[in-house]
This record gives sequence, C-alpha cells and structure tokens, in this order.
Amino acid sequence: MTPSELTELISEAELQKGVARLAREIGEDYANTGLVMVCVLKGSFIFTSDLLRQLSVAVHRVEFVKASSYGSGTESVLDVRVESSLGAEQIRGQHTLLVDDIADTGKTFAAVSQYLRDMEPASLRCCTLLNKPDRREVDMEYDYVGFTIPNRFVVGYGMDLDDRYRGLPAVYCLSDR
Ligand code: 5GP
Ligand code: MG
Repeated sequence: MTPSELTELISEAELQKGVARLAREIGEDYANTGLVMVCVLKGSFIFTSDLLRQLSVAVHRVEFVKASSYGSGTESVLDVRVESSLGAEQIRGQHTLLVDDIADTGKTFAAVSQYLRDMEPASLRCCTLLNKPDRREVDMEYDYVGFTIPNRFVVGYGMDLDDRYRGLPAVYCLSDR
C-alpha cells in the first residue's frame, strides 16, 4: 500500500525493462575495456545495484560519492557539495561511468564530473535513470538515459522526500505537486 499523496509514474516492470536496456547499451560501449562505476549517493543506490547486476561487462570497481545540495524538501538546488573517500589512484586511467538517479538542473552532474575529471580517468560518461529536461540550468550531455519524465517531484526506487519513500519498488510522483 502506498500513501494517497503518491501516484505511480513508472512501474516496477517498466523500471526493470529500462535498466536492462541501459545495461545492454553500456555493455556494448565498454565491451573491450570494462569500467569503473561511480554511484552518486544517496538517491541512485538501488538503481546502481540493479544496473550492476545486469551488466555483462567487467566492472573493475564500484565506488561511491555523496553529492548533497544545500537545502531540503523539493526546492531547487543552490549549490552542490561532493564528498568521498575515493583516491585519484582509483580513477586515474580508468574508463569511468557516473551513475545518478535524476538529471534535474544538471548541477550535480556538473559538480561530480568535475570532481572525477580532476582524477584523470581514461574516459568519463554519465548514466542517469531519470531525466527532467525542462529543468536544465547547466548544459550537460548525459550518455545514457533511462526515462525522460515531466517536471514532477518523484520518489521511490532509492529516491526520497526528506528521507522517506526510498524503499518503494516503483517511481511515484507527489499527487499535489
Ligand atoms: P540536479 O543537480 O541535476 O538539479 O539535481 C539532481 C539531484 O537532485 C538528484 O540526483 C536528486 O538527488 C535530486 N532531485 C532532483 N529532482 C528530484 C526529484 O524529483 N525527486 C527526488 N527525490 N530528488 C530529486
Ligand atoms: Mg542525487
């Protein structure tokens, strides 16, 4: 049962199909090199674990960075802080894939990709489960996109509203926003 404030946007079955398609695309591009996956916490931890288990190419390493926006709730991001225990030696010379939950303004992707680029990966690509193109403020190109969605605030499948709803198996939007 889900609270009445939520309306399903992407079902569990659709999510799994989308993740399988992304895994195929990524698998083709990294077939000869393998990759290092970098999961952007917290929102993409479930997506990352599903994607990881569907990939047929060599995943040399899975790493985590935490991107936090200042402010809470559904307000737009003002600034992004990136933290991790990652050392440059883990990324240098590696074909690196950034895995994020939502491309909204693009500021998280911009901040995390700069953070990783400073570690001199062999290549850097970005995969996002969801894309909200209407909200883009930073001109960033995502290499792999699961689903393009309208400008609605979403929760579930790892994504939260003030830390609630991460465990829901599908993606929901808030009925009143
Ligand atoms: P950006 O930096 O692209 O504006 O924001 C991306 C981050 O903001 C996402 O990784 C996610 O953490 C958060 N975010 C953006 N839109 C939503 C949303 O609709 N729902 C949730 N739960 N988080 C969002
Ligand atoms: Mg996020």
